[in-house]
Amino acid sequence: MKIFNNREAIHHYLDDLRSAGKSIGFVPTMGALHAGHLSLIEAARGKTDIVVCSIFVNPTQFNDKKDLENYPRPIEEDLQKLRAFNCDVLFLPEVDEMYNSSEFWKIELGNLDKILEGKIRPGHYQGVTQIVKKLFDTVKPDYAFFGQKDYQQIMVIAHMVNKLKIRVKLVICPIIREDDGLAMSSRNVYLLPGQRKQALALYKSLTLAQELFKTESLKQIKEKVNAFLRSCPGIETEYFEIFNARTFEPITSKRATTMIALVAARIGKIRIIDNMYLNKENLY
Ligand code: AMP
Repeated sequence: MKIFNNREAIHHYLDDLRSAGKSIGFVPTMGALHAGHLSLIEAARGKTDIVVCSIFVNPTQFNDKKDLENYPRPIEEDLQKLRAFNCDVLFLPEVDEMYNSSEFWKIELGNLDKILEGKIRPGHYQGVTQIVKKLFDTVKPDYAFFGQKDYQQIMVIAHMVNKLKIRVKLVICPIIREDDGLAMSSRNVYLLPGQRKQALALYKSLTLAQELFKTESLKQIKEKVNAFLRSCPGIETEYFEIFNARTFEPITSKRATTMIALVAARIGKIRIIDNMYLNKENLY
């Protein structure tokens, strides 16, 4: 696996491969890699000639300084995992490689940065789009792979790709879960054993919603799932919503083609998000 810390160097290296007719698949991450990330590497491996992963803990998308400082950075383990999964190229820049001290970024995201995660984490999606645009400019991938786990993030990136006419195809990969259903996340390592059990409430709330979807109205589903979440010890629900998966707008009747339930909660200081399609196994 070739490792680059420098934007220019990786850009030229990949340019040469592109000129030689190779297609490039890109998996951006913040590291602390788990099976969810590695499933994206595998998907890229299956679809493109050259698999490029980036590991960069992007400061501009953190609204909590402590969260940024504490974010896990087990780089040696990450390198081993990437090599085991036949990643071809790793982009591993330092912060000053990606940002000047005085930089301004603002993209119109419509409603996307005013609802759900956008509302709870002000500025988060500006930071995400800022870094993803820089990474796309550096790697110039044919395909970029993202996890359904961060569904709203995909909507945001799709919006940016469309708006800025970036020539990349986005591929959405299913959520990889632990055996008991908890969606894998780099932040799960912070959960104490008791909290780890409590965190299952999110997965259970989504499977409950899926079950209720067969017979109940959306209003009833929301009421029952919220009541379930209230009954779960240690869980402080931030939202449980049902959205049109294509337009990413809230819905009140079952007329939308594909519907997705999205949930976010705090367990102590740790935030967990998850989602699940209600009327289709998988949209993509
Ligand atoms: P992160 O390192 O958290 O920024 O995530 C990098 C990529 O991995 C994003 O596209 C995430 O959506 C994706 N990802 C994170 N967790 C999972 C998971 N459990 N299953 C599938 N993809 C995931």
